[in-house]
Amino acid sequence: MDIKENLSKIKSTLPEGVRLIAVSKFHPAETVKEAYDAGQRIFAESRVQELAAKQPALPGDIEWHFIGTLQTNKVRHIAPFISMIQSVDSIKLLREINRQAENCGRTIRLLIEVHIAGEDTKHGFSTGECRALFAGDVFKQFACIQVCGLMGMATFTGDTEQIRREFGTLRTLFNEIKSMPFTGHPLFTELSMGMSDDYRTAIGEGSTMVRIGTGIFGVRQY
Ligand SMILES: *Cc1c(COP(=O)(O)O)cnc(C)c1O
Repeated sequence: MDIKENLSKIKSTLPEGVRLIAVSKFHPAETVKEAYDAGQRIFAESRVQELAAKQPALPGDIEWHFIGTLQTNKVRHIAPFISMIQSVDSIKLLREINRQAENCGRTIRLLIEVHIAGEDTKHGFSTGECRALFAGDVFKQFACIQVCGLMGMATFTGDTEQIRREFGTLRTLFNEIKSMPFTGHPLFTELSMGMSDDYRTAIGEGSTMVRIGTGIFGVRQY
């Protein structure tokens, strides 16, 4: 795998305003460093233990994003350094992130994960629950978090039209919420959607952040 070449190929296809998040889960720190040396600065991980081990072994100017299932009792391990938690799927988790951010004396940026796929295996609020969350302005009670946008994953399928519809649903919801008055509203700007196999479709539907692992680092060894 030529990581540098993969990165530059992908980056050359991204329109202005779309950021590349390199998903480094299951790849060792040395591999992450290769991407770092090629200029990549934003990385994402999906397991707390793995991230907590890698973070101190790598340069301090890396912006780490969390994209996996996050148990409330593990938030404290990443709270001191995490740049963005993209996979917030419950109010309980919001509350704990806020509490740990306060303990660290910082504001933690996050995205609300929305369930848009046809499969049950993916986490997130339903579109209705998400709308209600913002309409109720639950964020008012949490002073140490900044809600920056939405994240979603499309169904794992070869049906591009279905994927496009699912991303379209998320974009419509995102635009709807953007027009609502709620705490932190002016900083609600990010729509994280698109992975190695569907990021082109996601960009067509308005993604501002694509999360790419396999396309940069090759197939993961589990
Ligand atoms: C693993 C993962 C990715 C990256 O998937 P690839 O197909 O390897 O690009 C993106 N987003 C989330 C939430 C993931 O868990």
